[in-house]
Amino acid sequence: MRLRVNPPLYYNGAMNLNKQLKEVFGYKNFKANQEEIIKAIIGGRDVFAAMPTGGGKSLCYQLPAVILEGLTIVVSPLVALMKDQVDEAVENGIPAAYINSSLSAEEAQREYSRLFRGETKLLYLSPERLSLEGYFEKLKDLSPVLFAVDEAHCMSEWGHDFRPDYLVLSKIRKHFPETPIAAFTATATVTVQADIIKLLRLKKPLIVRASFNRPELFYRVEQKDDVLAQIAAFIGDHEGQAGIVYRTSRKDVEKTADYLKSRGIKAKPYHAGLPQEKRKQNQEQFNRDKIDVICATIAFGMGINKQNVRFVVHGDLPRSIEGYYQETGRAGRDGMDSECLLLYSSGDLMKIRYHIDKMENEAEKKKAAANLNLMSAFASVNVCRRKQLLEYFDEPAENNCGSCDICSGNIEKADATVDARKFLSAAVRTGERFGIVHIIDVVYGADTEKIRKFRHNEIKTWGTGSGKPKKWWRAIADDLIRQEAVIQDAESYNALKLTPAGRDILFGRKPFYIIKKKDQLPSGRGEQGFLRPADSSATSAKYDKKMFACLKDLRFEIAAARKIPPYIIFSDKTLKDMCIIKPVDNSSFLRVSGVGERKLAEYGPMFISKIREYLGY
Ligand code: ADP
Ligand code: ZN
Repeated sequence: MRLRVNPPLYYNGAMNLNKQLKEVFGYKNFKANQEEIIKAIIGGRDVFAAMPTGGGKSLCYQLPAVILEGLTIVVSPLVALMKDQVDEAVENGIPAAYINSSLSAEEAQREYSRLFRGETKLLYLSPERLSLEGYFEKLKDLSPVLFAVDEAHCMSEWGHDFRPDYLVLSKIRKHFPETPIAAFTATATVTVQADIIKLLRLKKPLIVRASFNRPELFYRVEQKDDVLAQIAAFIGDHEGQAGIVYRTSRKDVEKTADYLKSRGIKAKPYHAGLPQEKRKQNQEQFNRDKIDVICATIAFGMGINKQNVRFVVHGDLPRSIEGYYQETGRAGRDGMDSECLLLYSSGDLMKIRYHIDKMENEAEKKKAAANLNLMSAFASVNVCRRKQLLEYFDEPAENNCGSCDICSGNIEKADATVDARKFLSAAVRTGERFGIVHIIDVVYGADTEKIRKFRHNEIKTWGTGSGKPKKWWRAIADDLIRQEAVIQDAESYNALKLTPAGRDILFGRKPFYIIKKKDQLPSGRGEQGFLRPADSSATSAKYDKKMFACLKDLRFEIAAARKIPPYIIFSDKTLKDMCIIKPVDNSSFLRVSGVGERKLAEYGPMFISKIREYLGY
């Protein structure tokens, strides 16, 4: 047992934390809620904190780990990430370590020795260790002063990432009745929150629910027609930037990665069908900026800590807003502007409906259908996308966020009543017995075998829409579905049937608007190739881009030599700040956000000399 002497284990919370914040992490100010959480923790209180990805959760337990006298234990289900997390903490000068199944017996033994000598202040543990017989007893000898539970929603069956092995955490309180527990999650639902508090047996915890708004993310939805070409075009606008492309099926993941590669984009696939070694390798290459794009199923993401993901594309419709929010949330962790693109088609909607219809559990089926409807509304309704996301989490929001396609004036509302009536009329005149493709053929005036067979070229609406491309009619059809003017009847081969809203449009009682992308983007495309309001974020301050590229190269070289991900050395945001401040000596280097004492000592000389060279000193 180590002797515990002054200073006391827990503090009265009145201390000034800004000094440590700058010295260790290099930041001048706390992010929202961090200070309150840290003060509660070092005051010995339990905490439950729901904060979005990028909200700065790790600092909330790392700073207490530095301040508190004794060992902080972080439990995380993300074993694959632990090494990077520990490297990151060590880079900031925090004596950190991890113990999980990836260590050999000898390596683990070495870590235990260091722990028992009191040399480690921050220990990352996997739940699988805690499940080992007698492990809690072993931990008692280390007298931990704080347990931090990362990704706490994994304990809850109501969450989207439930892991039964995480339930072992509910034993912490029993074994350590006096040690504070701080639980963190990026899941916003209140049900999950209550579940976590109960399972961990938190005592009068400080409960923090941060805003789930991610102002740095720009949301955009586009009609999906030629999905691969659309994805490639979008990525072309983001050359050299890191991004994730989500596809639903493994096959489409492979196809997308191949397509992008054939167009000279550095992309790799990631899905559960790949051998584990390959998957790990691809993820690591992405993490270390060796490739730009990872094409993945939703299996990818929980285990990613990469800070500089600049875009997330959904090539297929996600099943729920919660999932969509978490996946898009992987962009812009470093707080810099990033873009989220969703490609929407009614075909996807139909496919998911089909799967839902086959579900056996009625309650689950209902929930899935409700989730899907909200998701589809997100893509179609003429309401700020951000507002819809936040309202899903019961968070009030402004009507106009200024930074989604709806609010930025990047799309327009067009009156399409006449065309909608043509389409609906064709559906009715053919007896509401046919699916989208055929109805489009009728309106367009196609001469197919099916048309001739049913003599649909003789009905009045045949060919009335020949003046517009099929793509246009597809968009009309998709929007009629999204706005629930027609439904696709799964019981009769997805035949289109009019709803009362559809009849209102057909009989001229209601207008029909579609939202469509403006053909010509107004001037002022942002530096990342998409439209943003001029002052959308502080990070768009002017900086020297050539210098940025030069420092990025230096960062890449150092990272490769040390075999760590580049962002661990400095985030993009820190590099950008460097290109604004242009520090040429230690004191100005220390002014850069993200540069603390340890990073100044470790990297200051190399970066300062590069900057001096660049500036021609
Ligand atoms: P989360 O785990 O909540 O997703 P992280 O802990 O990864 O978020 O933090 C996101 C980013 O914000 C990291 O780059 C981190 O260094 C940075 N960060 C954390 N706290 C601050 C702060 N007070 N000021 C500036 N940046 C911060
Ligand atoms: Zn908006």
